[in-house]
Amino acid sequence: MDILKSILNKISNLPLPSFFYFSHKGYCPCCDKRVVFRSTDNWLRDYFFCSNCYCIPRERTLMLTIEKYFPAWRDLVIHESSPGNRGTSAKLKKYCKKYIPTHYYNDKLLGEKVNGIRNENLEDQTFTDETFDLVITQDVMEHVYEPENAFKEIARTLKKGGAHIFTVPLVNKFKPTERWAIKGNDGEPYFLKTPEYHLNPIDPKGTPVTMHWGFDIVNFIRDNSGLETTIEYIDDLNYGIRAEFIEVLVSIKE
Ligand SMILES: [Zn+2]
Repeated sequence: MDILKSILNKISNLPLPSFFYFSHKGYCPCCDKRVVFRSTDNWLRDYFFCSNCYCIPRERTLMLTIEKYFPAWRDLVIHESSPGNRGTSAKLKKYCKKYIPTHYYNDKLLGEKVNGIRNENLEDQTFTDETFDLVITQDVMEHVYEPENAFKEIARTLKKGGAHIFTVPLVNKFKPTERWAIKGNDGEPYFLKTPEYHLNPIDPKGTPVTMHWGFDIVNFIRDNSGLETTIEYIDDLNYGIRAEFIEVLVSIKE
């Protein structure tokens, strides 16, 4: 009896099986192939991968939005700040001849190349006015310390008729936007709320979350850059697009 009890105790202490599996056949707008989209986690935003190029829903929805607003993107001058190495970034790099990716290394000279990529601070860029048709950022605007300056600089570097097309998790939805962290005197983040970091491919420490945006981001952008923003939302399993916080924002310079 004691043995049975101890076995039962052991079993009841094991974590409950949390196996989740979801798949759907469809067309991937990032690699232009018929694929299977699969997730083994219920957080589809980061795990609902394309079986061919491993892109995730927000990358596919961004690509569709670029195609919708700027179908001739292959011939345009495009700046992408902090690109990834798959999905939309990989497609833009492959097919757009005038694609300029930048990363920010705060200890290196701005405007110079670092590891083959131009070093730019989104909040204080060295590009001249009206250089780009498109500026792309993917999950970047929740990490900048001075989003006022970043939006202003993006608008300055856009040509007339150009646009900033970007993803940013609007985690606050209908609640007002909240500032989450500011830059401390030591250059490190000073969190106003619970410290929060996201993974960063070029920094093992991760990137501090500085803003919790709501839909009122549209007003914030207008107030700081003068650009009018449309929020696009796509939910279409045929493109493997289903997840939380995958709005795409399109701010056009009139
Ligand atoms: Zn794909």
